Amino acid sequence: MIKKILIANRGEIAVRIVRACRELGIKSVAIYTDADRHALHVKKADEAYNIGSDPVLGYLNAHTIVNLAVASGCDALHPGYGFLSENPVLAEVCARRGIRFIGPGPHSIRQMGDKVQARQAMIRAGIPVVPGSDHNLENVEEARALAARIGYPVMLKATNGGGGRGIRRCDNEAELARNYERVVSEASKAFGKPEVFLEKCVVNPRHIEVQVLCDAHGHCIHLFERDCSIQRRNQKLIEIAPSPQLTQAQREYIGKLAVRAARAVGYVNAGTVEFLLDEDNQFYFMEMNTRLQVEHCVTESITGIDIVQEQIRIADGLPLQYRQEDIQHRGYAMEFRINAEDPKNSFLPSFGRITRYYAPGGPGVRVDGAIYSGYVIPPYYDSMIAKLIVWSLTWEGLIQRSLRTLDDMVVYGVKTTIPYYREILNNPEFRSGRFTTGFVDAHPELLDYAVRRPPEHTVAAISAAIAAHLGI
Ligand code: ADP
Ligand code: ADP
Ligand code: MG
Repeated sequence: MIKKILIANRGEIAVRIVRACRELGIKSVAIYTDADRHALHVKKADEAYNIGSDPVLGYLNAHTIVNLAVASGCDALHPGYGFLSENPVLAEVCARRGIRFIGPGPHSIRQMGDKVQARQAMIRAGIPVVPGSDHNLENVEEARALAARIGYPVMLKATNGGGGRGIRRCDNEAELARNYERVVSEASKAFGKPEVFLEKCVVNPRHIEVQVLCDAHGHCIHLFERDCSIQRRNQKLIEIAPSPQLTQAQREYIGKLAVRAARAVGYVNAGTVEFLLDEDNQFYFMEMNTRLQVEHCVTESITGIDIVQEQIRIADGLPLQYRQEDIQHRGYAMEFRINAEDPKNSFLPSFGRITRYYAPGGPGVRVDGAIYSGYVIPPYYDSMIAKLIVWSLTWEGLIQRSLRTLDDMVVYGVKTTIPYYREILNNPEFRSGRFTTGFVDAHPELLDYAVRRPPEHTVAAISAAIAAHLGI
């Protein structure tokens, strides 16, 4: 039985994993760099160890981290998302050192982390994929020939990419020629691997992904889909479960397809199969993420299942506690990625001290965050500082509750995406539940909001305090 888990991550996801451990009666161990000395995950975990002065490298050294897991008496390790979560070496080192890796085996991570190999595996399993490369591109001439065959627009993509980076749309041959070296160089810089491939660009698609859970005993189920079409620069901003854009028949079809995909590669643990849905209602496999996802919380809200706890049980060798027919969904949930960014200034990161933070509350509200009043957001990491997850029984109710909750959540000291989300929620196209991955680019006017003054109640409270002090 797993008794103590090292969390090889930071920020909100490390806090999330600590919470799952606590409920299961499992001890948690945090790691932190000097820059993260005052981070929330360090305060929440049962134990915490400093892994060095470099703000980033400590979180990326598989050997040091696994040594620490062994030395601190852990029997398992959770990688979270980002950092080493999709690095097969971490899973391998864990296996060698007798630490259970809370995720799939290194083979699955390697196979699905390579988008070309993943496409091949899906084609073999009879899953529809976007037309495109069956191997990495050798050079721009090969790219040109393939693009001519499948037709423009095409997407040039880093084979080992993630986080929305290393992806460029090319509308014609000239753009393809211009972008080729760029994507190769982005891929080399961001992922240490220069390989790129090409696929047809699905025009006006919706991003629909399915959460799967597979145990080591051959059981595999899905927890329905999430709609992540609201993106900027191929990165998700708002995620919704279930998708307001699918019929029940489509929901059942895509769930089954995802389970088939996971089974085809012998997948074990939690994973997400991402699809694009085109204008003709065709689904195409895009990639599989072999880890916990940022937006897993919306699925938890509609199904009541704790995905992190299930991950831990699966890694412990336990069979799934649910059959497919036990899984129900109720209402709608929406997650807002609260990023310390200035949407008005091309989403430029806005780091620094959070002078005041008021957490939202009330019915149907969950916050997974890493912030508190006085916390200084270090400049070295992802700009996502919290996730706001709202649930309601109906789509209309969800919109209203989300607007109320965004007003309820107050972060002073840094710029955030909160005011921008208010504009999105008021947009009729968004409210109609019909939107594509082009939504953000198609609505630059939503960035024209007025920056709000402190809410009236704050002003009133300050006036009252001054009045009391002056005795008037
Ligand atoms: P999700 O698919 O869970 O929504 P994202 O794609 O937004 O997640 O990625 C989650 C985090 O992991 C982000 O901080 C992102 O920058 C990082 N990330 C994802 N994939 C990679 C990768 N291959 N290499 C480096 N960082 C990555
Ligand atoms: P990452 O690993 O960075 O998450 P994905 O392959 O999942 O990369 O793509 C990220 C996003 O880029 C998708 O959600 C979608 O908006 C867009 N995208 C990727 N491939 C295509 C495509 N072939 N056609 C249209 N949009 C695409
Ligand atoms: Mg993706």
